[in-house]
Amino acid sequence: RYSSSHHHVCVIGSGPAGFYAAQHLLKLRSTSQKPLQLDMFEKLPVPFGLVRYGVAPDHPEVKNVINTFTSVLKNKNVRFVGNIQAGQHVTLQQLVNAYHAIILCYGATSDRLLNLPNEHLITSAREFVGWYNGLPANANLPVNLKSCNTALIMGHGNVALDIARILLTSESSLQGTDIAEYALKELKSSGIKKVLIVGRRGVLQVAFTIKEFREMVKLPNVGWDIQTEDVISDSTLEALPRARKRLTSLILDSRKTNQSSSPDKSWTLKFLRSPEKVEKVGDSIHVTFRINKMEGEKAVPTDKVETIPCDIAFRSIGYKGTRLFHDLPFDEATGVIPNNHGKVVDGIYTCGWAGQGPRGVILSTMQNAFDVAKTVSHDLDGSEGSSVKQGFESLNITHRVTHYDDYVKIAEFESKTGNKLTSIDEMMRVCDRT
Ligand code: FAD
Repeated sequence: RYSSSHHHVCVIGSGPAGFYAAQHLLKLRSTSQKPLQLDMFEKLPVPFGLVRYGVAPDHPEVKNVINTFTSVLKNKNVRFVGNIQAGQHVTLQQLVNAYHAIILCYGATSDRLLNLPNEHLITSAREFVGWYNGLPANANLPVNLKSCNTALIMGHGNVALDIARILLTSESSLQGTDIAEYALKELKSSGIKKVLIVGRRGVLQVAFTIKEFREMVKLPNVGWDIQTEDVISDSTLEALPRARKRLTSLILDSRKTNQSSSPDKSWTLKFLRSPEKVEKVGDSIHVTFRINKMEGEKAVPTDKVETIPCDIAFRSIGYKGTRLFHDLPFDEATGVIPNNHGKVVDGIYTCGWAGQGPRGVILSTMQNAFDVAKTVSHDLDGSEGSSVKQGFESLNITHRVTHYDDYVKIAEFESKTGNKLTSIDEMMRVCDRT
């Protein structure tokens, strides 16, 4: 179907980075003499990465980008190839032989660790997010919220607030979202009344954004306590960049506006605490924090500690990228594929969290993917007359992969039943139904 007169490009990973890179590249190559054939490889049978498996179920407006991504999948020059893990089912050398350009957009599939003894007592925020979103790898995470009263979340980013919000939201407001059915059931019987959100630095350094914080102070029947003695002078506040100033003012003002007199549940924001020790005491988990003070932007330890008991503790201090191909440069310390404006080596590119590090929202990922697509397109222009490549057909993949039609079957099944499929076997069964 696709002659050797095509430029063959593949994208590894079908999250926002993969889709935006594909979308922009298709646009840039639309007037080129040599048509583009783009193959998008995804390790799961279904596309969309963290939009399906990270973004919180009560943020359906964010998930709407799926509509844009679906129009990319429908493009006649795009082939979705799911259920195929690059690095395992296909080697880098095979890809290099088959494609003029390879764009690595496989995200960040691991965690930053606290590196403390007994860290296994702490639940990974990434796995918990995967659990409530029905990610097959996390569907069997042992989560027992019934016997919990207090949850402790370490981290002051948006993922920490997503988890806090999900734990404190009434289960009825999550009904009808794409949350996994088992997670909704567990949340319904949850005993959690109190969520502590603890960060190592101060109010001025929080990594969450205003939208997510605002959602916290709007949760019905939920009270809060913002434990900061930080005195931030008007001149300091005035000198902050606009977004930081608005967020800081909102946090500080919210200290006084806690109206709910006898709330059912509550959250507490604690600052200047770095976890140092994790212990199991009876059925509880005790986390001992070193109390810090700020020196400029740096948290400096004091000689004081505080031990906080809880029933479930989450580590939400960031995702981390992992190495896919041993024959490609990789920075183990940062978990990022080293690159120069997206270019790794000739013919190999990276964008999104794999190349930028695991930070930034869909919009910033989009901007980065557009920039990298531009570089790829420019390099394709300069490679006229380069060797003939055959794309997907030449890979000789023999196991059952999924294509767009299979994804449509899964999506239709989910929409009909109102339940997200949370196991790969189930997904493949639905795909193979006639
Ligand atoms: P990903 O979305 O992770 O996509 C990577 C894809 O690669 C995945 O589909 C993965 O399965 C696939 N893959 C991995 N390994 C392989 C392999 N070996 N072979 C083939 N495929 C592979 N941003 C917002 O704007 N709004 C939000 O509300 C929001 N909420 C978020 C909530 C959470 C919990 C998290 C973690 C992030 C959130 N973000 C949000 C940020 C947003 O999700 C990211 O900016 C974006 O998803 C990064 O895109 P990506 O394509 O680089 O990575």
